Amino acid sequence: MRKYLHIYLDDQSIDTKELHGEDIARAGRYLIAKSLLENGIATVDPLSAENPLIFSAGPFAGTNMSNGNRLSVGCKSPLTGGIKESNVGGTFAMALGHQALAGFTLHGRSADWVVLYFAKDGTITFDDAAPYMGKGNFEAAARLHEKYGKKVSLALCGPIGEYQGLIAGISFSDRENRPVRLAGRGGVGAVMGSKKIKAIVVEMNRMPELHDKKKVIATVRDYATRLEAETAVQNVRKLGTAMVADMTNYTGGLPVRNFTGGQFIDIDKGILKLGGQYIHERNVERGGDPSHACMPGCVIKCSNVYVDENGEELVSPLEYETLCLMGCNCGIDDPDDVAKLNNIANDLGIDTIEIGATLGILMDSGRAEFGDLEFMASALEDIRQGNKNGRLLALGTARVGEHYGIKRVPVIKKQAISAYDPRVIEVTGISMMLTAQGADHTVGNHPAYECADKTVKELAKESLEIQIHGAITDSFGLCLLGRSVTNANHSLIADGINNALGTNLDASFIWQIGLDTLKLEKKFNEVAGFSESDDELPAFFHHEALPPTGRVARLHARELNRYFSELMGQALPDQNC
Ligand code: SF4
Repeated sequence: MRKYLHIYLDDQSIDTKELHGEDIARAGRYLIAKSLLENGIATVDPLSAENPLIFSAGPFAGTNMSNGNRLSVGCKSPLTGGIKESNVGGTFAMALGHQALAGFTLHGRSADWVVLYFAKDGTITFDDAAPYMGKGNFEAAARLHEKYGKKVSLALCGPIGEYQGLIAGISFSDRENRPVRLAGRGGVGAVMGSKKIKAIVVEMNRMPELHDKKKVIATVRDYATRLEAETAVQNVRKLGTAMVADMTNYTGGLPVRNFTGGQFIDIDKGILKLGGQYIHERNVERGGDPSHACMPGCVIKCSNVYVDENGEELVSPLEYETLCLMGCNCGIDDPDDVAKLNNIANDLGIDTIEIGATLGILMDSGRAEFGDLEFMASALEDIRQGNKNGRLLALGTARVGEHYGIKRVPVIKKQAISAYDPRVIEVTGISMMLTAQGADHTVGNHPAYECADKTVKELAKESLEIQIHGAITDSFGLCLLGRSVTNANHSLIADGINNALGTNLDASFIWQIGLDTLKLEKKFNEVAGFSESDDELPAFFHHEALPPTGRVARLHARELNRYFSELMGQALPDQNC
């Protein structure tokens, strides 16, 4: 049995539901889509009290299942106006699992700023948030740990979330209590701020009761052994997600200087300092940690702790998408510079993809030179201060572009396109176009897929399949980086769930959850008022040839949606059942 809490902030009442079996397995992104749609949230103002904020852990939460303690945070997005599931690692879902909590929903709005404290004995208190208000995340976390101890996991609304900046995420604790694991996309931090919840503190305990603990442990071992054997896992553990930069730079799909180029460095002539190989060597030489796990039990360890020349920590983690959007997209080539900016962004709790894209359009339109670090640091300081310029920047790329009348604005559904140029990395491009989540690569990322020789229909099929797989991992609390094993072993996942919950599910249940999630999300956005034109790429991708490949976009929403409808109608049987 797990509990699910409905927390009503207006009167501080709590309604506790008991969940059993399959109802615990229907979690994460699926649960978010289903409950937001069924409760008529599509038409509410996302920053009003009517928008609920959902925190959902998967069926393995609280166990040591590798990468099985991800958390889904969901609401109607104030950035896109559509549905949002923002997925995050760290220890929060594990802490919920320790308390036999499947998740909770925050309803309404608190009268005063509060910290929600979940003690391991089951009591929940609404504590005064005054000591933490206006503080950066690192100071706020340190103060919270002073009060609540070290054996807690935090969810933090940073200073930008406090003033409802739309680029604000929610910051969660990592294994060493850094508040740096960000549910970053879609403005979920602004929604937390609109509810006047400064922080949620969950006390850690021990593994929850499981239907058959021995068998769960066997599944945990089996899954980990399979992951360990994968070359892709070995590579990302060594080189981190930054290794993607080496690939996208090579194929010419790396966003450079606001998507005016697809390759930052000709590697015959120079070194890509933002790449995994270079960063790994520099970090190891300096004494950093190149293979860090954001949560206990993860054997993939894609994360890192990146240090300076004196061995002092600069940031954790330093990831591909940040290296791209705050790096080469802004003309910055040194990972130390990106790391310092990233650490400031972590302190503010803001989405590095969104702010990197915003600064990129400002540089591209002549408001600063590409590579101007001072401009970038000063923009972040404005955002921290919440002054006029800072509050404008905190609205995100689309609105800043609109404000200044900028033409080349890389967004879909008002959310910045991530680190994959859709003219070259087309499967990911289709995913970012058609998903209801806005331009979010995590919904269906396939940067290594050879696209150029494929038809658009073939690309659409690839995107849809990988989007279903993405919705599966996001719905069962798993991390996308385990996909080489997860995607090919749905029976193993189903068996693990059965052992944990006493259910009798099979692989088809896993696949169906993924498919249903996409349908529910699409429906939500339709009710919210989205139409096919919202799925289009910005026009410049169609008109501007991308150096060095010379590719222009050939992806159009109408054609892609037609293929998607046909493929969805065929129900796409899972090859792994
Ligand atoms: S693979 Fe990376 S992001 Fe995913 S759970 Fe493990 S350490 Fe965290």
